[in-house]
Amino acid sequence: MASLPPTPTSDYRGRLAPSPTGYLHVGHARTFWTAWQRARDAGGALVMRMEDLDTERSKQIYADAALEDLLWLGIRWQEGPDRGGPYAPYVQSKRKALYLAAWRRLFRRGYIFPCRCSRKDLEASVSAPHERVGQQAGKAEPLDDEPIYPGTCRQLMEKVRSPQLPGPTNVTSESPGNSNWRFRVPDGAVIEFEDRNLGLRRFVAGEDFGDFVVWRRDGTPSYQLACVVDDAAMRITEVVRGADLLKSTARQILLNKALGYNNPAWYHCRLVVDHHGRRLAKRHDALSLRVLRMQGLTPMNILSADLPQDV
Ligand SMILES: [Zn+2]
Repeated sequence: MASLPPTPTSDYRGRLAPSPTGYLHVGHARTFWTAWQRARDAGGALVMRMEDLDTERSKQIYADAALEDLLWLGIRWQEGPDRGGPYAPYVQSKRKALYLAAWRRLFRRGYIFPCRCSRKDLEASVSAPHERVGQQAGKAEPLDDEPIYPGTCRQLMEKVRSPQLPGPTNVTSESPGNSNWRFRVPDGAVIEFEDRNLGLRRFVAGEDFGDFVVWRRDGTPSYQLACVVDDAAMRITEVVRGADLLKSTARQILLNKALGYNNPAWYHCRLVVDHHGRRLAKRHDALSLRVLRMQGLTPMNILSADLPQDV
């Protein structure tokens, strides 16, 4: 097991992006291992980025544990919070200025609108039938899913597009304030991409997903916004992540276009499921790398075990 990552010999740049809200489990291990293998096989660089924007659930102890567990598995990265690098800081909670600049760009270009719906309003609205079916089947909700937005606040777009925009208007009108902001999706637009693992994927804006949150009233960007900003800023060429984020990829393609970023390539890994066919979550403590390691399993045991997968 090499203790240092190899020096990159190509332009490939991949990333590992754990969120420190719990201990990593065997499913994370598989996905991150794939990311590491692909970067290594391409002679490229791997970036470690800590996605700690969920301030309520993120804990330093989990961030430290994630690095330790991945190093134990044998995964190595060239840039990250522990190693520094040209695109530091590699911790999302320290990159807010970049996300705010992206919010401003979306605002000036008229892609987003403030949403004043409460959680209750949204829960009361009807969600798409196929999502309900998934819930009835007892599957865990995909990480990236949010109910299809009913469009209540879309008309606030017009207010936002005041005559003096775009341009260097006064700063106070260019701050997200304390409301949620949503990206208005082009209803009916087909978003297709060729996944390097799963093949052609196709989503319809407004049907598979609706106007999605880019900024929260608590002053933090959403996962979608922070992710595209960082992937662009860190010059990521291929995103390797779990198949639970396929729909997020469709959203992120829209965001990349709106922000003028290039799309990276995508490689989504099939998810490991438990013996009930449910996707693993951080609550599956018994399958955390910590516990398996304490039970005496080796990285090879964990990476080569025949585990059930979602299809
Ligand atoms: Zn609303």
